[in-house]
Amino acid sequence: MAGLLGFLGRGPERHAPDAARGDKGPFLEGLMQDVPLSIPDILDHAACFHGAREMVTRTLEGPIHRTTYADLHLRARKCAQALKRLGVKPGERIATLAWNTYRHFEAWYGIIGTGAVCHTINPRLFEDQIVYISNHAENPYIFTDTTFVPILEKIADRLDSAKAFIVLADRAHMPKSKLKNLICYEDMIAAEDGRFNWVRMPETAAAGLCYTSGTTGNPKGVLYSHRSNILMYLASGVGDGISLHSSDTILAVVPMFHANSWGLVYSAPSNGAKLVLPGMKLDGPSVYELLETEKVTFTAAVPTVWLMLLQHLEANNLKLSTLKRVVIGGSAVPRRILEAFEDNYGVEVIHAWGMTETSPIGTLCVLKAGQTDLPRAEQVKIKLKQGRPIFPVQLKIVDDEGKALPHDGKAFGRLMIKGPFIAKAYFKGEGGDPLDADGYFDTGDVATIDGEGFIQITDRAKDVIKSGGEWISSIEIENIAVGHPKVAEAAVIGLYHPKWDERPLLIIVPKAGESVTREEILAYLEGKIAKWWMPDDVVFIEEMPHTATGKIQKTALREMFKDHVLPTAK
Ligand code: ADP
Repeated sequence: MAGLLGFLGRGPERHAPDAARGDKGPFLEGLMQDVPLSIPDILDHAACFHGAREMVTRTLEGPIHRTTYADLHLRARKCAQALKRLGVKPGERIATLAWNTYRHFEAWYGIIGTGAVCHTINPRLFEDQIVYISNHAENPYIFTDTTFVPILEKIADRLDSAKAFIVLADRAHMPKSKLKNLICYEDMIAAEDGRFNWVRMPETAAAGLCYTSGTTGNPKGVLYSHRSNILMYLASGVGDGISLHSSDTILAVVPMFHANSWGLVYSAPSNGAKLVLPGMKLDGPSVYELLETEKVTFTAAVPTVWLMLLQHLEANNLKLSTLKRVVIGGSAVPRRILEAFEDNYGVEVIHAWGMTETSPIGTLCVLKAGQTDLPRAEQVKIKLKQGRPIFPVQLKIVDDEGKALPHDGKAFGRLMIKGPFIAKAYFKGEGGDPLDADGYFDTGDVATIDGEGFIQITDRAKDVIKSGGEWISSIEIENIAVGHPKVAEAAVIGLYHPKWDERPLLIIVPKAGESVTREEILAYLEGKIAKWWMPDDVVFIEEMPHTATGKIQKTALREMFKDHVLPTAK
């Protein structure tokens, strides 16, 4: 029995017989219908079976807007009809530069419904990156919110493929702009009757395009298919996952330009859940207002959004009266966020890990049978991990030679991932072949996997601190440091040390109005981390540099502190 368990799930040997998958030998063909997975079918289903279910948007203009899946279905088809009239061809990449709103949702389905590819561009990127991405994707049309028209005005003459910009507004709110080729979205769809049959595509056809932020080098395009997007949201939607119900009300704080809004743009309509979209206001008071007035039961976003919400709740002594579950990912969930949600507000936290290249959900952290009976402190330890792979995702960790490491929760190595919604290449072949000999994608993350299959990310491979030949996890020190009541944000980078190669430097942004000393921080860490992980120095800055996806930008910090000499290195 022990031998069998070892083979099934306890370690890397489970991945060894991989060659047996997809054998070519003679086989008996199944007799089931070959219906291709198709994204527009999701909206047909929502309109047909949940037609009266609401979508609520905080518009950029201010007021709350209400519509239904039946109406969205009609307007998305009008949008597709208009795009076809503009000459959009299947496979062309049509961009969106937009917040989460009902018009962005309609454009999403409208674009894909013409057989084209919905290319979401993150508006927080630098202008040069937006120019690069749009030219690389050869966008003939760019849907844009009014708020991003000034950006487009600045870069329009460098956008080589753009024929026109479709402004997601009605005539009354069209901005005065020096751009000549502006189309008013509401006028554009008002000219159509909506009698449009979605263009049918094979399920492997491209449907979505999203570029990784490219912290090093140019951004690279991840090209999703109908099949990969549908499989991802189905796989992550299981009971031990996002597990949505028609009775749920979802606040999609995670932007649609952040890797398919983690699948919510599909799972909400397909489950007939009410969907609430926050527009451009993601601050604590605005998010709180929507959570309460719309009676939200489920939401998802990166930790920085939840820090803003929790500060608002604490400062005003507020409660969350309907929220049941929150998915948090994109960076590691700090203990203080987990405990505040679960212990103070009775909201279950599901920690998620993934990346643009994984569509994006790869793992979700939901306790297993047996773990739900553990003492609270043990449960918290597990819940701070990034979770277990969702089937059919396969994961392994490997050493520098590519050899699989054991699932013992101790060995850490590069996290490799494989599955039907994991990228096999980047758009136009940028960056070469990202897969290993067994077809696994190198995530660039370093992780452990424990005996129950829970992964814990210790670092990005490029951020790992190598001290005396051993690795120090910057994420773990950061997560403990932000638990200090006077600390707003914390980051750890490795700096040169003559004896140990590298030693950790802890960089702190104090909370507004607080002052805190190096000694207070070090005393707080004492006993919470291994002695040799203790930072050799603590420095304070006013503002943390962030990437366009809200992550701490370690490259900028390394640049900022490149001349800093650790006291132990003098
Ligand atoms: P980018 O790298 O362009 O910012 P992604 O949003 O794809 O874009 O980032 C993916 C990376 O974010 C992962 O490889 C990992 O390093 C980090 N990440 C995502 N979720 C988590 C998490 N729950 N804990 C720690 N790191 C995470």
